[in-house]
Amino acid sequence: MDCKTLILFLFFFTLISSADFIIHPSNEVNLLDSKASQGELGWISSPSHGWEEISGVDEHYTPIRTFQVCNVMEYSQNNWLRTNWIPRNSAQKIYVELKFTLRDCNSIPMVLTCKETFNLHYLETEEDQGNKFREHQFSKIDTIAADESFTQMDLGDRILKLNTEVREVGPMTKKGFYLAFQDVGACVALVSVRVYFKKCPFTVRNLAMFPDTVPTDSQSLVEVRGSCVNNSKEEDPPKMYCSTEGEWLVPIGKCLCNIGYEERGVACQACRPGFYKASSGNVKCSKCPPHSYTHQEGSVHCGCEKNYFRADEDPASMACSRPPSAPRNVISAINETSVILDWNWPADTGGRKDVIFNVVCKRCWPGPRQCEPCRGAVRFLPRAFGLTNTTVTVADLLAHTNYTFEIEAQNGVSFQAPTIRQYAAVTITTNQAAPSAVTVIRKDRTSRNSISLSWMEPERPNGIILDYEVKYYEKQEQETSYTILRSKGTNVTLNGLKPDTTYLLQIRARTAAGYGSSSRKFEFETSPDSFSISSENSQVVLIAISSAVAIILLTVVLYIVISRFCRYSKSKHPDEKRLPFGNGHLRLPGIKTYVDPHTYEDPSQAVHEFAKELDASSIAIDKVVGAGEFGEVCSGRLKLPSKKEICVAIKTLKAGYTEKQRRDFLSEASIMGQFDHPNIIRLEGVVTRSKPVMIVTEYMENGSLDGFLRKHDAQFTVIQLVGMLRGIASGMKYLSDMGYVHRDLAARNILVNSNLVCKVSDFGLSRVLEDDPEAAYTTRGGKIPIRWTAPEAIAYRKFTSASDVWSYGIVLWEVMSYGERPYWEMSNQDVIKAVDEGYRLPPPMECPATLYQLMLDCWQKDRNNRPKFEQIVSILDKLIRNPSSLKITASTASRPVNLLLDRNSTDITSFHTMGDWLESARTLPCKDAFSGVSYSSCDTLAKTSAEICLTEVRPAATCPEWEPSMGITTL
Ligand code: AMP
Repeated sequence: MDCKTLILFLFFFTLISSADFIIHPSNEVNLLDSKASQGELGWISSPSHGWEEISGVDEHYTPIRTFQVCNVMEYSQNNWLRTNWIPRNSAQKIYVELKFTLRDCNSIPMVLTCKETFNLHYLETEEDQGNKFREHQFSKIDTIAADESFTQMDLGDRILKLNTEVREVGPMTKKGFYLAFQDVGACVALVSVRVYFKKCPFTVRNLAMFPDTVPTDSQSLVEVRGSCVNNSKEEDPPKMYCSTEGEWLVPIGKCLCNIGYEERGVACQACRPGFYKASSGNVKCSKCPPHSYTHQEGSVHCGCEKNYFRADEDPASMACSRPPSAPRNVISAINETSVILDWNWPADTGGRKDVIFNVVCKRCWPGPRQCEPCRGAVRFLPRAFGLTNTTVTVADLLAHTNYTFEIEAQNGVSFQAPTIRQYAAVTITTNQAAPSAVTVIRKDRTSRNSISLSWMEPERPNGIILDYEVKYYEKQEQETSYTILRSKGTNVTLNGLKPDTTYLLQIRARTAAGYGSSSRKFEFETSPDSFSISSENSQVVLIAISSAVAIILLTVVLYIVISRFCRYSKSKHPDEKRLPFGNGHLRLPGIKTYVDPHTYEDPSQAVHEFAKELDASSIAIDKVVGAGEFGEVCSGRLKLPSKKEICVAIKTLKAGYTEKQRRDFLSEASIMGQFDHPNIIRLEGVVTRSKPVMIVTEYMENGSLDGFLRKHDAQFTVIQLVGMLRGIASGMKYLSDMGYVHRDLAARNILVNSNLVCKVSDFGLSRVLEDDPEAAYTTRGGKIPIRWTAPEAIAYRKFTSASDVWSYGIVLWEVMSYGERPYWEMSNQDVIKAVDEGYRLPPPMECPATLYQLMLDCWQKDRNNRPKFEQIVSILDKLIRNPSSLKITASTASRPVNLLLDRNSTDITSFHTMGDWLESARTLPCKDAFSGVSYSSCDTLAKTSAEICLTEVRPAATCPEWEPSMGITTL
């Protein structure tokens, strides 16, 4: 076998057995690949009998070009093979990968010269030099030796060793270069030559694109700035470093997909229909929220469905919403000229939480659409618009006037909705009210002994002003002695004053509803005694004196006229002249006093004094609504000439009555007719001159309070209940101011109208004895409603306004427990005993601590320690103004709020029913049962037994552990 045949043979085997065929990494860029050439490579071989180009096939039978040399039978070999010119491109560092086989010299018999290496050279040039080849111009890169050479044996086994060697060259600076292979006597086949450089390939990282980058030859990294992919924008400038090995390192910064686009793979792609993306960032597109949609790709928000809206400040992720429905169940509680409106949330809030309420006030007249917006100083507490709670107090309305309040619900999208107002309306009629205070008083003229004043009518007269009361006194006398003047007009001259003296003065107006509140104290001084008349002033003084004489004469004439007028009007107000009072304890003029009809010799005279006789033809009876002691109680209508028809209740006296029964029946009208207050049942008149005898009163649609509350168990807000209680207290204050003691104040004797206004009723003289089914005979014989009556009234018939206050406390308990029977099924005797021993009713369920404390105050054993009705009204007013004070319930509060400043403290428990109380009394130690207070030193506690089911109330002084200051708030 000749040498060439041997090499071909070898080569054939080399390729067939080439198992390590390399897939080049993507960061290598070939400048030359001999395997890729199908035709002759055309490399220069020098001398021409040295390296020889041969065609062959690779393992895929693809033709390839190879070179071989094997001149081992001749000495001094120096065979060169030079490649074509290879342009460098941008590469600085070049890699040369050689694949070759080499014959083990020892395995060749009879060789003359044999080497097992060859040399690799290169030459840089700016251009292709064609066939010009000069050995000495080349620089040696390296001597290439085979890792493994093959032998004859290998041929037999067909195991051939393909060597792969890679060499680096650089940095290159010229435009191109040649490679040359120098054989000095080896038997070698060059299977492939690949020349390449490395680059960092195009890549996308953090949504930034980094272009193909060729590293420098030096060791330093190349910093590359990335550019954001389509539909994204730079958050932090994206950067990476390209290493000399063609690897990307240290990615910094990033890009974020634009709104409407999401990251999918390495791109930002548009959101699909039904999805949206409102913010840039690499989050996914979100599904359209409820009641919204989008049919487009790349949506940044979803549009709302028909009749649904989005407020400006709503985030795109929020469901579309719609305006709320109207508020529900509006209830009004009228107090004189103010009204508390209370309502429930709309059934549909439109899917939003920002519901607010606006209250529109309209003043109305009878007839269709006879309303106009309220004018003047109507006050809304806390305000009329933008209410977040479902209650508002409207104050300073006109007395006896019809109003309609429209309560509108709005939310954040109401303004975008079609103009349909969602509101609920309530119509009310205000009650009578006293005038407001005189605020503007002017001093017109002062002299040594007199002063002239004028003032402006109160801002809210609430009716026709009958007259003004002017009260004045010397400042230093401190109100112990004062003078009162009445004036029909808005000016007055105070005469008979001391010279050079300071006086204080207050004015208040009076209408049919009584006196309004007094003005602030106004201070003035009379002129000094030493005031002398100078000659220049004498003329002025003369005029003044003659005017004074004229005024005196006029006054005398007026006096005569007025005194005649007064006599004509039965001197009902004998105090209409100046009235000096000694010590201020006298009942002030203007406040009427109750007259007991029994003091009249002829009781029918009393009826006609206080009650209007009605013509039976003006009354129409509709139906029976209740049963009274003397006959049926009916509802009906009363139509008086030139007056509007009104609904009335008609009490009838049943046929066959005795004269005493008639007298007793009518005595109620005689009493009722003396009262004129919005919380006292109003008498319209009586029918005595025809039969049946009737008492006609205003009609109270909701009947008596106890039944009404039981029917509406737990349906009212605390504020509504307090509003009712305030009305009752106000009526009772009026009665006590009149000197009238009711004696049978109980929820069953309170009537409720359609506006939830509560009015005190049942004024019959015999009622406590006969009429009231609750009244029971006491040991002393009289009939008394035990559960409602103060101990001193039960024990020795001491009925006073203070005993009415005790009853009021029981009414308070009845109201807060929605008509529960006081002391449940305990017998009257047990009630008397328990109350006497200091036990009191426990707080009703959910009863505010403040109200329970008020009950306990009303049930003070010593009647002087009980609050007056005036105080009760003001306490309840404060609670209404400050509803948060009602939040703490008696069962949760560790201590009650002390409503009165000058009374002994008491404690409360947390029992709502007798069962609760009994249960805990059996099982718990005293200090646990009385939250937060230790009673361990109180011997009374020993009395706590299963039979007594009330709260024991002990004054602070008897319990040393009691610390009255702890947790007590003063309102
Ligand atoms: P009296 O005789 O006052 O206790 O009344 C008996 C019942 O008649 C009461 O319990 C009420 O249910 C009803 N009643 C009395 N007065 C009125 C009124 N002014 N309006 C409506 N119902 C009334």
